[in-house]
Amino acid sequence: MGEFFARGEKLMPAAFPVPLSATKPRAGFPAVFLDRDGTLNLPVVRQGRPYPPAALGEFQLCPGVPEACRTLAAAGYLLVLATNQPDVGRGLQSRETVEAMHVRLREWVPELARIEVCYAPGQGRTHPENRRRKPEPGMLLDAATALGLDLGRSWMVGDRWRDIACGQRAGTRTIFIDLGYEEKLRTRPDHTVRSLIEAVPIILAGRRS
Ligand SMILES: [Mg+2]
Repeated sequence: MGEFFARGEKLMPAAFPVPLSATKPRAGFPAVFLDRDGTLNLPVVRQGRPYPPAALGEFQLCPGVPEACRTLAAAGYLLVLATNQPDVGRGLQSRETVEAMHVRLREWVPELARIEVCYAPGQGRTHPENRRRKPEPGMLLDAATALGLDLGRSWMVGDRWRDIACGQRAGTRTIFIDLGYEEKLRTRPDHTVRSLIEAVPIILAGRRS
């Protein structure tokens, strides 16, 4: 405190620049960030490209997902869903339907500690990119601040390039679920698997204290 008043200046905390270190989440809990479509639930694949289910009746978990999530949570990982749902921003899907899916998801996977959703349409110049829309890391950073997460001990798991790039930009390790889409990765993940179940032993083996 003394140094602030050494030259007779008035202490005005609001006007002080916030040091960068204070804006970063402090080291804390490890998390596994989970993409939604293709990672937790079955995607709808048309002509080699994945799409989210359009209706609640089409929303089904991938096999083994509840068990995988239970195992990760029991090992001390906070599970955070991070999903782009741009069809809401584009007017092609209702927010109510997406929210109803997430109510069901919480019933199926009660270990989910938090759900981050980005509804931004992300269609280029007319709709500017959003800091929370993957590959931007905003959803992960917001969850890290809210839950006190240690991103360096955390993982991002997903089935598209945006998931992998997002995890990397947030400072997590990454696992790509390769479902054979006609879409190339733009950066190299730490690991590649075929399902969330296969990702579990990799995460458990890669624990850092
Ligand atoms: Mg996906």
